[in-house]
Amino acid sequence: MASFLMVGAGLSGAVIGRHLAEAGHDIAVVDARTHIGGNCHTERDPETGVLVHVYGPHIFHTDDAEVWDYVNAHATFLPYKNRVKTTSRDPEGALGVFSLPVNLHTINQFFRRTLRPEEAHAFITTEQADTSIADPQTFEEQALRFVGRDLYEAFFKGYTMKQWGCHPSELPASILKRLPVRFNYDDNYFFHRFQGMPEQGYTAMIESILDHPRISVTLETVFDRSQAGDYDHVFYSGPLDGWFDYELGRLGYRTLDFERFTYQGDYQGCAVMNYGEVDVPYTRITEHKHFAPWESHEGSVCYREFSRAAEPGDIPYYPIRQVKEKALLSDYVARAETTPGVTFVGRLGTYRYLDMDVSIREALDTARAFAADLGAARTPRAFYQAPL
Ligand SMILES: Cc1cc2nc3c(=O)[nH]c(=O)nc-3n(C[C@H](O)[C@H](O)[C@H](O)COP(=O)(O)OP(=O)(O)OC[C@H]3O[C@@H](n4cnc5c(N)ncnc54)[C@H](O)[C@@H]3O)c2cc1C
Repeated sequence: MASFLMVGAGLSGAVIGRHLAEAGHDIAVVDARTHIGGNCHTERDPETGVLVHVYGPHIFHTDDAEVWDYVNAHATFLPYKNRVKTTSRDPEGALGVFSLPVNLHTINQFFRRTLRPEEAHAFITTEQADTSIADPQTFEEQALRFVGRDLYEAFFKGYTMKQWGCHPSELPASILKRLPVRFNYDDNYFFHRFQGMPEQGYTAMIESILDHPRISVTLETVFDRSQAGDYDHVFYSGPLDGWFDYELGRLGYRTLDFERFTYQGDYQGCAVMNYGEVDVPYTRITEHKHFAPWESHEGSVCYREFSRAAEPGDIPYYPIRQVKEKALLSDYVARAETTPGVTFVGRLGTYRYLDMDVSIREALDTARAFAADLGAARTPRAFYQAPL
């Protein structure tokens, strides 16, 4: 049996570590932070008792039955549907609260209509959509082509500018692949079959995944490459460019700043309120206690969320993955593929945005494929999930 190091105690490191521990290997997990759980970390606010999603709101949703069974083996999931609202201006310029994703309720409120589904479809596609744009090249053109100027400006333009720090005319059309509107009253943000929230939070769930006699966890420990030689193999869920000391340059990320505030009572009546106007500097406000409607707390903890380009030292949240970043990524991938003894995993190791269910699916697939390589005495791969 062998000994493996997991750099990172987030979902990727925990799931791969658990799988290999169950196969009889010794697993050391290190994380630079003071807690396990990576960006899914949740903790109770001592003052209010509210379970806070420390690195931003996390809602579990999946169509993958094996992943759903996996998380349910490690936590009690309670039903939770993500219903997002947005504060924005209607076509007359009046501020209002609207339902997201844009659905029949949004359309009828926004345009002060009483349209049925087919009528709304005809209204949007013939009266609103800008059909003069034959071959949309940018996100802006695609949105105008699909939904027209009024909906685009209220629900897509300002939010996108704040989230990505650039004008939608600088983003590719491929971001909006299909008509981003529902012609019914379904306001469930996600389409997936299985959705829910772990009753005691994600950190308790990841603690259960890591709870195995062959797994040891060391926190507040920054991995350095000289430690790699102490193990038969390293699984690295830190930033890919970080492994190489950023020698070729930095892969671009957006980071988030959370301005925390507390409130006595119910601040906004829902978990997530987006702000569509570009002159409101934050993208959204999260009120954490609404993620656990089965709990009751007088006090409330809220986060105002601001997005900006990540600088060295910031937490890298969303990979930018535009043309420039992909060129640099391919250079790092080429270097990684000739670097023995390490497999790059997870959202930072492969420089992709991954939902939690995808992180778990990929971690399970990686652990299985790695174990198969090990069994067949094949050299382990740098990537079991292609970053490009
Ligand atoms: C704002 C935000 C909201 C999200 N919301 C959702 C959601 O609603 N639903 C959903 O399904 N998914 C959501 N996600 C995605 C989810 O956070 C990821 O799927 C998940 O965190 C990926 O886990 P990971 O282990 O790959 O990475 P991480 O959680 O980032 O874990 C990596 C860990 O590695 C550690 N590390 C890195 N480098 C080093 C080093 N050199 N030494 C030691 N430790 C190191 C870090 O400290 C970190 O703890 C969201 C993500 C973000 C950013």
